[in-house]
This record gives sequence, structure tokens and C-alpha cells, in this order.
Amino acid sequence: MHSQITELENAFKEELSQTDTSDGSAIEILRLKYLGKKGLVTDLLKGMGQLSAEEKPTFGKLVNDLKVSVQTAIETAQEIAKKAALARSLESGKIDISLPGEGYHKGSTHPLYDIREEVIDFFYGMGFKVDLGRDIETDWYNFEALNTPKDHPSRDMQDTFYLAEGVMLRTHTSGTQIHYMENHKPPLRMVALGHVFRVDSDATHAPMFQQCEGLVVDENISFAQLKGTLSLFAKKLFGENIKTRFRPSFFPFTEPSAELDVSCVFCGGAGCRRCKGTGWMEIGGCGSVDPAVFANVGIDSEKYTGFAFGFGLDRIAMLRHHIPEISLLTSNDQRFLGQF
Ligand SMILES: [Zn+2]
Repeated sequence: MHSQITELENAFKEELSQTDTSDGSAIEILRLKYLGKKGLVTDLLKGMGQLSAEEKPTFGKLVNDLKVSVQTAIETAQEIAKKAALARSLESGKIDISLPGEGYHKGSTHPLYDIREEVIDFFYGMGFKVDLGRDIETDWYNFEALNTPKDHPSRDMQDTFYLAEGVMLRTHTSGTQIHYMENHKPPLRMVALGHVFRVDSDATHAPMFQQCEGLVVDENISFAQLKGTLSLFAKKLFGENIKTRFRPSFFPFTEPSAELDVSCVFCGGAGCRRCKGTGWMEIGGCGSVDPAVFANVGIDSEKYTGFAFGFGLDRIAMLRHHIPEISLLTSNDQRFLGQF
């Protein structure tokens, strides 16, 4: 019986020496083989029944010693395996702290958003209500009610995105004036901001851009008040030193009409390549509300007068930030947006 114990001990030592101690599962297999419920050491104890009463204590002690020594060897191997596993996992998740970092990109507001907020802030402070209007308009709101005759060039298929007969993506925010006058009684002060759409695309024109439209209707509203309001607005946008000029023009829905120019933001009015040597840059259109428009919405033009104005937010952003291409504003290019 004693030789059995020695043989088993040698067999275990031999097997342990051939086991990869960095492999936890190989050690577990070895443990089960010797110490498991049906393991070899356990089997020795089961065989004790055949021994005499004198032999039992000695044999029992030897088997127990073997069991303890196997257990100790297994535990030592398990410790080694655990350390090896940790080392492997550290190695695989290793971080090279000498590599350049990814950095932290700080967000900023879009230049168009900033201008939009400034415009709202300015007119809100002057007692104007803010309206957004709607992107899809009917012929009546986009053209007819704004005194735009059927043969006007802006009705040309080349300029307007038609969705169906008499239904289109609005080509300007001016239609919002009509909705507003239909639903509110004078005195009125409102600005409408939103996207407008035109079949047009080059460095300074995009098929979609943002406009702001303003309308004031009350008794005794004069062109002088229009000039005062917009001159103040230009100063708010471009600074105290900006000069304004109102140049006679034509729009179907205003009479008289004017283009609003500001002194060139690049040369200060001296004349440069960007302003084509004139010292002025156009930023929008304006005028006194045409009595024909009032008639379309049931406002008495004998009693009330008004003024309206409109300008492109994209154009203002381009002038203010010296942006050469309008498409940059909607390109979502981080290299561009990161500059604001
Ligand atoms: Zn200039």
C-alpha cells in the first residue's frame, strides 16, 4: 500500500512538471484528476476499508500528507497562473502614454445661429413679435397677395421649386407678412425668420438660405421710420461706424422701394475689390407697404401705412466673417466651423 502512495506522489510530480503553470485551466484539470471526488488521491482513501485496524491510522496519515502536499502544489501553480493571466491582460490593454492625444474639441455656435439670435434680440427689444412662417407656401401667399403679377420673372420655373400646381417651397419669407396681417389687426410689428428656397447656386447663392423679413403697420408710419430702424439695425450688426445708404429700387410689394447698402466692411468705404470700388455693399431690400398688398389682406390703406424689409442672414454672416463661399455655411466642415 505504501508503494502505491509513493507511486502516486511521483506521478503527480511528473505531471505537474509537464503542465503549463501559466494556464489556469490545465491546472484545474490536474486538480480534478488528483483531488476531485473521483480523483486518484480520493480513491486511495476509499481503498482503506480493506486495511487492518493497525494499518489504517498510519496509511490514513500518509494519504492525508500526500493530499496536503498535492493541494499545496496545486495552489502554488494556481497563483502562478493567476499572475500570468494578469500580466497577459495588462499586456493586451497596454496604453502607450507617449502617443499624441486626441485632444478635446470645444463646441461653438454656428455663425448663422448667432446672427439669427442677434436679429431676434434686436427686433424683440424694439417691440417686434417673432414669427417663423412656413416653408411650403401657396401661390397666393408667396406671390399673388404680395402684388407679384403672373408675368413677374420671380415666378419663372427656373427660380422656384414647385411641389405641385400652385404649391411651392417659399422663395422668400415675405409670405409670412400676409399670414400675419390676415390674423392680426394693426398696429403690427413683426419679424419672420426662416429658410427660403430658390433654384440658384454659385459662390454667393445657394438653393437654400435663411432670410429675415420685417413688417410694421400702424397709423402715420413713414419711410423715415424705416430708415431709422434699419440704420440702427446695421450698426447693431456691423458696429457703430457703419454707414447706410438707401438706393431706389423696385419690389412688387413695396412702393416706394429701396435697396439697403452698408459701407464696405472690408475697406470701410474707401473702395476695394470686394465692393467693386464703390465702397458700398448691399444687404437687403425694403420699402413702404404697397396699398395693393393692404387691399389683399383687408387693411384700410387710407388709415394705415407701413414698411417692410428683408435680408439674407447668410449674406450678413459672409460679410461679417469674410466668408468667401456661401456653401461653407451648410457644408458642416469642422475645419470651417472650428474657426467660430
Ligand atoms: Zn470695399
